[in-house]
Amino acid sequence: MNIDSLDGWQRTHLSTELSEKDVDVHVILMGWVLRRRDHGGVIFVDLRDRRGLIQLVFNPEYSPQSHAAAHWLRAEWVIAVHGVVRARPEESLNLDLPTGAIEVFVDELKILNRSEAPPFPLDEDEAPTDSVRYRYRYLDLRREKGARQGLYMRHRFLSTVREFLNSEDFIDIETPFLTVSTPEGARDYLVPSRVSPGSFYALPQSPQLFKQILMVAGFERYYQIVRCFRDEDLRADRQPEFTQIDLETSFLEESRIIDLIERMMALVFKRLLEMELPIPFPRLTYDEAMLRFGIDKPDIRFGMELADVSEIVRGSGFGVFREALENGGIVKALKIERGERLSRKDLDDLRDFAAVYGGKGVAYTRIRDGGEWQSPIAKFMSPDEHAGIAAAVGAVPGDVILFGADSPVVVNNVLGNLRNSLAAKLGEVPSGQFRFLWITEFPMFEYDEDEKRYKSMHHPFTSPRMEDLDRIESDPASVKARSYDLVLNGAEIGGGSIRIHRSDIQERVFAALGISSEEAREKFGFLMEALRYGAPPHGGIALGVDRIMAIITGSESIRDVIAFPKTQKATCPLTGAPGPVTQEQLKELGLRIVKK
Ligand code: ASP
Repeated sequence: MNIDSLDGWQRTHLSTELSEKDVDVHVILMGWVLRRRDHGGVIFVDLRDRRGLIQLVFNPEYSPQSHAAAHWLRAEWVIAVHGVVRARPEESLNLDLPTGAIEVFVDELKILNRSEAPPFPLDEDEAPTDSVRYRYRYLDLRREKGARQGLYMRHRFLSTVREFLNSEDFIDIETPFLTVSTPEGARDYLVPSRVSPGSFYALPQSPQLFKQILMVAGFERYYQIVRCFRDEDLRADRQPEFTQIDLETSFLEESRIIDLIERMMALVFKRLLEMELPIPFPRLTYDEAMLRFGIDKPDIRFGMELADVSEIVRGSGFGVFREALENGGIVKALKIERGERLSRKDLDDLRDFAAVYGGKGVAYTRIRDGGEWQSPIAKFMSPDEHAGIAAAVGAVPGDVILFGADSPVVVNNVLGNLRNSLAAKLGEVPSGQFRFLWITEFPMFEYDEDEKRYKSMHHPFTSPRMEDLDRIESDPASVKARSYDLVLNGAEIGGGSIRIHRSDIQERVFAALGISSEEAREKFGFLMEALRYGAPPHGGIALGVDRIMAIITGSESIRDVIAFPKTQKATCPLTGAPGPVTQEQLKELGLRIVKK
């Protein structure tokens, strides 16, 4: 059997461009054999191209030669055919397929390439195991049900974003990958320099410093759809390299940047999902979010808000509550409607759940028909306390009330996550909804107990609120930042801030972070210097493309919307990266591997 060449053949149509209106049209089609079926004398082949599928018919009476050749065909062979479009007989119509009313009678077949038998069938809904599918990603991506549609969607998403930002007078500027460390709170990927042995580039955790410098350079509106690199433990659904829509603007305050992003997302949803997003999106301050949801990225597709009941149980007979309050903690309650949905075991398992989030346990009570409490803790509390709590959470008979009592951080962490987990378990999360939310006014600094110093909650270039300026030194914990996060369905999909554009304030913030002037000069001297040459007020945001795409496409993992994702161990199953290098290469770089 020969392998043919194209020999001047040109494809006339893609599969899905053909329909009943094309009956009797002569066509040239090209693509891959999805499957071949021998039906007595006739051979049917499903041909797949980048758009979809079409049925080819090799009929011995119509074309003995191509029928004979079709016997060779196997899954994933690459072919070109010449033939004529026919209407399918009634009994073989396939209404599930866009081309299901037609077939193509082939009179000439070219075999352009063979294929080994694929390690997994490409025509099944079921995905092969991860290790196989990422090793043979090119075959996985051929699957209709694989990440293919996600990548098309991603392309349309990014095209729409570019179109929107271009129309808003933004300019796309590339910034270096071989650069110095940009502090976004993760570890850097380092690249050794050959020319300066012992020196290293860092791959950017974000273009933060460059985009600010572009504002000093007077561009006023910059964007970039850019890869960022962070060497983090990949516990969650994260990738060591990921893509951001990164932008920066001058002379705009928070509300204008927020408005811009809302209009961008509205356009994206209209184009991709034919959905009208109501804008403006709701906004919550960080403090409000923590109070009502215990978490800084609340999922507002469902209610189940937390209530702070500290004042009601202050001085309570229940020791756990009283002690938490005496130690400066809080007591919060979460009501679960129709508490019969939670079994005794579910409630007992809450202790383990709390432990994961640093808590000691979760107290609970059921509310009986007459309103009285059914709980081991009931007898330690007064009727007034029962009534006060029930009123605070709006409990009615049949409900269950869950309690967290500890430091504010622990209570919020436990109940905030419990709220998400129980909502999912109890089917309270509506599907097909997209609920955006802005969180604003984050604390500027976060105290790191391990390192015994303050750290930036966003990054060190974020501006404090002007009214908080004089507390940077005296009471850093009370200073709020001019930052904003965008949350979608309980996932943080972006974050940004108004930046510090005055070098004197930047120096004070570095000092509050325990960064000495020498260290600041060494690491960020170029930025500090730029800020002294007429830096305009500026601010921006970065949105996580992979996460947004995963949510929009309803994918379980961001790997479904990335062509060549890495594993949890940050390896690439396809190429085998990271891999060893030769002694020669190491020598050139002045490096030696120390065996552990
Ligand atoms: N550079 C920030 C980040 O990557 C985003 C921003 O502040 O614009 O999270």
